[in-house]
Amino acid sequence: MCRLEGKIALITGGASGIGECTAKLFAEHGAKVVVADVQDQLGQAVCESIGSSNSIYVHCDVTNEEHIKNAVDTAVKTYGKLDIMFCNAGIMDPNRPRIVDNEKVDFERVISINVTGVFLSMKHAARVMVPARAGSIISTASVASHIGGMASHAYCCAKHAVVGLTKNLAVELGQFGIRVNCLSPYAMDTPLVTRFVGIEGEALENVTHQLANLKGVTLRTDDVAKAALFLASDEAKYISGHNLFIDGGYGIVNPSFN
Ligand code: NAD
Repeated sequence: MCRLEGKIALITGGASGIGECTAKLFAEHGAKVVVADVQDQLGQAVCESIGSSNSIYVHCDVTNEEHIKNAVDTAVKTYGKLDIMFCNAGIMDPNRPRIVDNEKVDFERVISINVTGVFLSMKHAARVMVPARAGSIISTASVASHIGGMASHAYCCAKHAVVGLTKNLAVELGQFGIRVNCLSPYAMDTPLVTRFVGIEGEALENVTHQLANLKGVTLRTDDVAKAALFLASDEAKYISGHNLFIDGGYGIVNPSFN
């Protein structure tokens, strides 16, 4: 079933993890996909696996407005329009410093990619979606958008900010028929997390299973990609301003993490 037939999607952070999985799923559902990332070899490999007639790779650092502008313009020049913007690129600090040890430069780096990068992605998506009077903008927040203690101050702050941007923009763009939502997943095995915790595969899953609310189920990137697919598709035509938790109830039943 092709749930995105005829749609054009741009995915930031599309070279790895959630973004890679979403790029492939969107293409399986009939979308043409622009993969935007700073990891050029990985991004190009994602496009090769999708097929060159259905995808294109663009080097794009989301903190650089010219890069974002170029990625959006490439989508429009190549495919004629932009229907879906997935603002997904993000980083996590390699550790969780106490506030007195938290260097300003490290704090600002996370905010720059995880907040300013989302802001710029939303801004340039809106630039082309508003005249078209249609579009779906989706961002990747996290359960850290709702609860404290899971990650660094900067990461927690950044993911709360993504929800704020989502709500504010949903109000601004509703009049143009554009929907704006975000996703808040629990932890899963991607390079972002393995770098943070220093373990991967089964060892990582043992930890996430132990801490999870929903037992006996492993969250994987395709679970997040499927939620993005739903929000991107016309099935979600009346859903806007929403933060969709993909966390097995974790954010609700664990208001804090020790
Ligand atoms: P990942 O490291 O596999 O993918 C992130 C991608 O973002 C990478 O390809 C990376 O090159 C790209 N990126 C980083 N900085 C960039 C920049 N300045 N410009 C453009 N691209 C850049 O990690 P992931 O887990 O797939 O992360 C995707 C999103 O999901 C992030 O926003 C992350 O915060 C969020 N998230 C992840 C988890 C998890 O458990 N993995 C949970 C909740 C939220």
